Amino acid sequence: MMRRLLLLIPLILIAAPTRAQSARPVDWNALRDEAVQVLSDYIRVNTTNPPGNEKAGAEFLAAILRREGIEAQVLDEEVLGAGRANLYARLRGDGSKRAIALVHHMDVVPASAQHWTVDPLSGLVRDGYVWGRGAIDMKGDGVAHLLAMIALKRSGVRLTRDIVYIANADEELGSTGAVAFVDRHPELLRDVEYLITEGGDIPIQDGRLQFYGVGVAEKRTFWQRLRVTGTPSHASRPTRENPVPRLVAALARIAEYQTPLEVTPGVDKYFRDISRNYEGQQRAWLADVRGALANPAAREWILSDVYWNAILRNTISLTVVNGSSKTNVIPAEAVAEIDIRLLPSADPDTVLARLKTIAADSGITWTTIMAPKTPLENPVDTDLFRAIERAARERDPGALVTTPMFTAASDRPTYRRLGIVTYGLDPFRVENAEHQKMMHGNDERISIENLGWGTRFIYDILLYAQ
Ligand SMILES: [Zn+2]
Repeated sequence: MMRRLLLLIPLILIAAPTRAQSARPVDWNALRDEAVQVLSDYIRVNTTNPPGNEKAGAEFLAAILRREGIEAQVLDEEVLGAGRANLYARLRGDGSKRAIALVHHMDVVPASAQHWTVDPLSGLVRDGYVWGRGAIDMKGDGVAHLLAMIALKRSGVRLTRDIVYIANADEELGSTGAVAFVDRHPELLRDVEYLITEGGDIPIQDGRLQFYGVGVAEKRTFWQRLRVTGTPSHASRPTRENPVPRLVAALARIAEYQTPLEVTPGVDKYFRDISRNYEGQQRAWLADVRGALANPAAREWILSDVYWNAILRNTISLTVVNGSSKTNVIPAEAVAEIDIRLLPSADPDTVLARLKTIAADSGITWTTIMAPKTPLENPVDTDLFRAIERAARERDPGALVTTPMFTAASDRPTYRRLGIVTYGLDPFRVENAEHQKMMHGNDERISIENLGWGTRFIYDILLYAQ
């Protein structure tokens, strides 16, 4: 009996499925083609914001998930308004580790069809690309997330972490989708440890990979309206009560103002990392950006890059100016709006007090028209960051995985409020110049190759983070 048991033990050990054995292989070409079809169909679901109509997008995604046997819910229509909704789905693991969420926004910015070579809502598949509004911002991400999750389910991989799939309404205008989701369903996010969404590029410059960007921090949007009141009168008799010159003088002082430079830890790491892509003096400057900023030549070169300038300081752009609507009328008031973007470390009250001093006119009324969200900074010493590094280096040995700061705004701070480690990662390798042109621009498209590549990249990251 004993001997028989001993003989059985090795057999049991062999028969017990390991993670690798239990996984059925994925047909990556078939999965890529499936992603192409899903993205093409998804682009045709018109979620242009305004008005959004994301409920149609949510139902489109929910139908695919349910066909795969993954539970999905269309939520929040009652607070987002008719035709608008968020989507939530979950693929169950064994629960021994906390969940990973994949998040995208379903809404897209409007497209001016006359400037496109194809119908922007056609989802046309041509010349190796899927064309249409949202292909890269960010329905393409949503489809890569979806197919990676579906492939994990089909392959039977034993997951230690649940995979949560969220599609939000209204990122492009008011962020009301993510805010409603986080406020109303904290219990659905309670076990979520990590979250991946937009905000980290994998830029290619002239065919050469620059780095894998993981967005761990972003600037904070802080908008102000400045108002000066005066006495309306006929412009043929100039008066001192004209509010326009007062406002213009204050704006000129603000425009001249150079905000202080500050190197945050993530930005310092980013410059040190990318210095490897440069040579000679430039390499030395980037490797020690704090030191370089004290050197006039280095400082001028670094700040001449509009992106680098924007991640090294709070920025101020004067944008809206309104005085009179008639050339011959002195108006009762003059109004301007300025777009301020704060570093995560900046204190909004201190920045505003400094600006009021610079403007030097106590007759100006200042109003905050967009208050900054929670500061976004995330740790990099995590299992998910290591999984991203591993997946990146398998594809590009020696690849740089770094942490550029995002200068625009995303839904990440809304999720970060709950303590979730929230990374920006757009899983596509796109030429810099092409990316600049297409993002909210014309002829937005994603190559079929990239879509397949990105789906597999997300799949591997989810697998390595188990
Ligand atoms: Zn976006």
